[in-house]
Amino acid sequence: MLSGPRFGVLGWPVGHSRSPAMMRAAGLERYQRLPVAPAVFADTVRALPGAGFRGANVTIPHKEAALALATSASDAAREIGAANTLSFTADGEIAAENTDAPGLLAALGDRPIGSALVLGAGGSARAAVWALTRAGADVSIWNRTSARAEGLGARVVTEPISADVLVNCTSVGLDRSSSPFKDLPLDADGLSEFATVADLVYKVSGTMLIAEAQQRGIETVDGLEILVCQGALSFTIWTGQAPPRDQMRAAARHGRTQAPCSPNPFH
Ligand code: NAP
Repeated sequence: MLSGPRFGVLGWPVGHSRSPAMMRAAGLERYQRLPVAPAVFADTVRALPGAGFRGANVTIPHKEAALALATSASDAAREIGAANTLSFTADGEIAAENTDAPGLLAALGDRPIGSALVLGAGGSARAAVWALTRAGADVSIWNRTSARAEGLGARVVTEPISADVLVNCTSVGLDRSSSPFKDLPLDADGLSEFATVADLVYKVSGTMLIAEAQQRGIETVDGLEILVCQGALSFTIWTGQAPPRDQMRAAARHGRTQAPCSPNPFH
């Protein structure tokens, strides 16, 4: 029987998440998937502390709702308008943070990011634009629905432009059997316009976008590395400890450990 504080990842669906394997490898043994429908999200989250939860990661489609119900939020979460990390304190506070933004920068490391093209205008794109802009990059943004890219703090483009880094923040590429380039504004050879290609989409088998970039000798940062970097920041927020990145990375990439997926987080 496991003891100690409980953690989890809230999403709908959440079965694909690598976070349980990664966080359990980091030592959070009672980290589990928390599949929660939007209609019951707020009530469920408010009940988690009473069930022994100290924190939770948040993924699609709950990041905006997580920020809305929090009793306090970091500047990053507020300015991005979304939270991916919730912490529950003994006095009933629900603190919201966004580690997607610094996680992306951490994953990019010391690669040049003087200019960036962000693809997408959803939650992860907002975090990417916020992070890259604060890191000093000249950021452009393309989205299938162009109007949705307005007002996010980046120059909206309808055609791809060259930049130091391309960041795919669309959900295009999850299905490796179909080419991502039919839905994106560039073809595989167009990747050569970028020194680095980063893909937030993650699959243990890798994405075609990353594979095509690697074939052309372009620097790449894949979604699993970005997942590890944002998760490492969440780990530190909850535990105050340095994250065991190597174990987290190995589990995210290769771990076959499947955390129990309980439809009822209170069991
Ligand atoms: P989201 O808020 O639902 O946004 C989805 C984006 O993808 C929108 O810009 C949407 O464009 C675009 N899109 C969807 N289908 C498309 C298509 N067929 N053609 C062109 N554009 C399309 O999702 P999100 O939270 O930003 O997440 C995006 C992806 O990043 C997901 O796969 C998610 O799992 C991944 N992610 C990974 C990490 C990580 O740590 N690696 C962190 C966060 C997110 P429209 O506005 O036109 O609909």
